[in-house]
Amino acid sequence: MEEFFVKTKRKFQVIDITPNVREIVERAATQEGLCCVFIPHSTAAVTVNENADPNIGEDLQDALAKLIPEGIWRHDRIDDNAAAHIKAAIIGPSEMVPVKNGTLLLGTWQSLMLVEFDGPRERKVIVQIR
Ligand code: ZN
Repeated sequence: MEEFFVKTKRKFQVIDITPNVREIVERAATQEGLCCVFIPHSTAAVTVNENADPNIGEDLQDALAKLIPEGIWRHDRIDDNAAAHIKAAIIGPSEMVPVKNGTLLLGTWQSLMLVEFDGPRERKVIVQIR
């Protein structure tokens, strides 16, 4: 198991973490297995999607912002970030990618993305390969 840290710079951000994960996977040199990418946070998420067009990340953030307005939830009275928790719960804290010959079997247009909903913060990413 390995981990690395990502410093997000804005409240809403989508960051490609594929190079960081790929490096760990190559070092592990697993012939065949699964790579779990997990973040131990409840206001950020991990997803797999296209990175070639950065508009996709912005569109994902905009779509979720339209679906989940800010400032109207019970948790906002305590912590003022309920929307971030709800968005993170919908996208989820982890992704699982198959590994073969030390390589992530992502599609040509797929990347592993860290999705920040309550930045800027330092986020930990845990990678486990089995
Ligand atoms: Zn909170």
